[in-house]
Amino acid sequence: MDKRIEKTIKNLEKNNMKCFFLEKKEEVIPLLENFIKEHDVVSVGGSVTLSQLGVIDYLRSLNITFLDRYAEGLTSDDLKEIFRKTFFADVFITSTNAICEDGTLYNVDGRGNRVAAMIYGPDKVIVIAGVNKIVKDLDEAIERVKNHAAPSNAKRLELNTPCTLTNKCSDCESKERICRNYVLIKKPQPNRIYVILVNETLGY
Ligand code: SF4
Repeated sequence: MDKRIEKTIKNLEKNNMKCFFLEKKEEVIPLLENFIKEHDVVSVGGSVTLSQLGVIDYLRSLNITFLDRYAEGLTSDDLKEIFRKTFFADVFITSTNAICEDGTLYNVDGRGNRVAAMIYGPDKVIVIAGVNKIVKDLDEAIERVKNHAAPSNAKRLELNTPCTLTNKCSDCESKERICRNYVLIKKPQPNRIYVILVNETLGY
C-alpha cells in the first residue's frame, strides 16, 4: 500500500475512526451490508461519490426506512423534515471533502445538515471516499475545497457563483454561495465514525 495511504489509515484509527481499505469500488456495497440491519433508519449526505457507487439505489432496495433526500418531487419542507429526522437515524452515510494525512476530516457545507449529522445524532456514520480525497494537511484540505471541490459542486448545481466561471474561490458574496460552514473532525467519540477508503478516484 502507498505509504501516504498507510499513514492516513493509521492516523484515522488513532483518532477513533475505524478504517476499511478497499481496492475496488465494487467492494463497497458488500461491505455496507455489515453496517445496515433490517428496519434501520438510514440517511445520506449530499454526495457525488455515493451516486457513483450506486449507494442510493442500493438503499432504496432494502427493507429499511430510507430518508431519501433524492426522491422525486420533494418540496423544501420535505427536505427540511428529512434533514431533521436524520438526527435520529441509525446509520448516516456520507463522503467527505478531504481526509488529512493526520487522520482528520475536513468539510465545508452550505446548509450544514451534512456536517451536523457527521458530528452528532445518527448512531453510526459511514464516510466513503476515494483516495483522491487524501491531502497532506489542513492547509491543503482548505485549498482542495476552495479551488476544486466547491467550484466543481457549484458547477454541477448550476449556481450563480463566480467560481463556476473561474474554478477558484473568491470568498464570494453570492446569495447562492455553498460554502457556509467549515468543519474539522479531529477525534470523534469512539465506535461511531467508520471510514471506507477506496483505492480509486471518486467524487470531487
Ligand atoms: S465561497 Fe463562493 S466563490 Fe468560493 S467556492 Fe464557495 S461558492 Fe465558490
